Amino acid sequence: MERTHIKTSSKPRRLSGFFCGLADLHAHIGTSIPPSVYWHIAQSEGYKLTKRDYHEFVDFVVLDPFHKSTLKEYLDSVYHPILDKLSSGSLALEKGVYETMSGAYRSNNITLLELRGNPMKHNRDGEVDLDHAIMAMLRGMERALLEYPKLRAGIIFCLDRQYSLKKNTIIIEKAIKYRSRGIVGLDFSNYDNGTFHFKDYKNIVSKARRAGLKITAHSGETDDTNDMWDCLTYVKPDRIGHGIKAAYDKKLMKMLRERNIILEVCPLSNLMTRAIKDNEELRFILQTFFKNNVKFTINTDWPEMIKEAHLVKQYEYLEKNNILTKKQIKQTIKWSFQHTFINLKKKNGNLYL
Ligand SMILES: [Zn+2]
Repeated sequence: MERTHIKTSSKPRRLSGFFCGLADLHAHIGTSIPPSVYWHIAQSEGYKLTKRDYHEFVDFVVLDPFHKSTLKEYLDSVYHPILDKLSSGSLALEKGVYETMSGAYRSNNITLLELRGNPMKHNRDGEVDLDHAIMAMLRGMERALLEYPKLRAGIIFCLDRQYSLKKNTIIIEKAIKYRSRGIVGLDFSNYDNGTFHFKDYKNIVSKARRAGLKITAHSGETDDTNDMWDCLTYVKPDRIGHGIKAAYDKKLMKMLRERNIILEVCPLSNLMTRAIKDNEELRFILQTFFKNNVKFTINTDWPEMIKEAHLVKQYEYLEKNNILTKKQIKQTIKWSFQHTFINLKKKNGNLYL
C-alpha cells in the first residue's frame, strides 16, 4: 500500500480528539522525502542504484522493528551516501522540499513544519552552486506555502560536526543571507569525529542570533550529557534536538527548566536507532520530563525512512503503548506552537514577503 506523504485519495488522518493542526519541529529533508519520490528522481536522472527493484530499495532504506540500525551505521551507509546524493541538485531539492511540505499538510494535517537540512550535503560536493541549492529549497517551500495557505513552514540549516569551523561558517553566513526568505534557525548535527567543540562557535552563533536566527543542536541522543552541558554553556540554544539523556541528569533538567529550553523528542527514531532500548525506557524518559517540568515536543525526525512514523502514527503509538496520555500529547503540541522558530504572529499570510 502507498505509504507516502503524497497520496491524495484519502482524507487527512486525524487522531480523535486533536482538532487543531499539528506541528513537526524536527524533520530532516533527506529522511522526509518519500521513497517513491526518491525512486522517481533516481529514474529521471538515470542513477544506477544497487537495488534494481522498487520494493527492495524501500526495504533497504526504510527502518522498522525488524530492520533497526544504529545511528552511525544508518548515517554512513544510507543517509549520506544514498539519500543525500539522490536529493542533491536544484531539481531534486525543489521537488523534495515541495513534496514533503505539501504532503505533510495533506496527509497528516501538519500546519506547522520546520524542515532541516545541510545545503552543502545537497550540492554534489560543490558541483552545484550553494546559492542555487538554497534557492531550490526555498522555491519548493514557497510553492507548498502558496498552495496551502494554512501551512506555516520554515527551514533550519544543519551544520555538520565533522566540518571545519570555516566550512560551517559559510553555512551560517548563508543562513543569515536568506533569513528573510524563510531560513529560521541553525542546528548542529551528525556525530563528532573528535574535532568538534561548541566553544569554537560562541562568536559566530552570537552573530547569527543577532541576525534573528534561532539555535538548536542534536545532543544527548546517543552520548552522555557532557555534550549537552557544553552546548548550553557555549551556544545557549533555544531548543535541543532529542536531549533524551537529560532524563538521567537531575542538574541538567533543572537547567533546562530554568532556561526554558525545549527538547525536540523523536520517539520512533530513537527506538529504531537503539538510542532508546524499548517502550519502557521511552515511558520512563518522557514521564521523568513531565515530573521535572522539562518541556518537550514530539517530532518525526525521519518520517519516511521509518515505517509507520508519520506524526499522527507516532501519537497513536505513544497513546496505545501507555507512554503518554492524550492530555500529555495535547500539551506537547501546545509547546510546539509556543516554541517554534517561525514567527506565527506575522499577519500577512504564510509567504516570506
Ligand atoms: Zn535529527
